[in-house]
Amino acid sequence: MVCVYCGSLTQVTNSRSQKRNNGVWRRRRCLHCQSIFTSLETVDYAQVWNVQSIKGTYTPFSQDKLFLSIWQSCRHRATAKEDARQLTDTVMEKLRLKQQRGILAVYTVIDVVQVVLNRFDKAASVYYAARHSHKP
Ligand SMILES: [Zn+2]
Repeated sequence: MVCVYCGSLTQVTNSRSQKRNNGVWRRRRCLHCQSIFTSLETVDYAQVWNVQSIKGTYTPFSQDKLFLSIWQSCRHRATAKEDARQLTDTVMEKLRLKQQRGILAVYTVIDVVQVVLNRFDKAASVYYAARHSHKP
């Protein structure tokens, strides 16, 4: 990875695995301007997970869509963005246990989000439920 300030080569000076989001955190230093920045390596879930709709069609899983739907449900909170980030990590952790050979039923995703939001903020969970119903 090149420096975000000058484009020169960088060196990894520290790295940690992040159990919470199944990722790797790396501290990098530019060999030219000495700037320091952080990079994060995570799984590209759109490549490995598919969401199965009620009709049986498959769509690549989108962590961005998941984050947005959670963030929209938390918008009444002053800390909505950070809350949504952490809630998304929690949901992802649970989905990793629920997926089977990379397939997640859409109602599984909705149920997991519902349970996580319900424990965190009742209003957020009500708002989410109003917009995501999997009852045919
Ligand atoms: Zn640099």
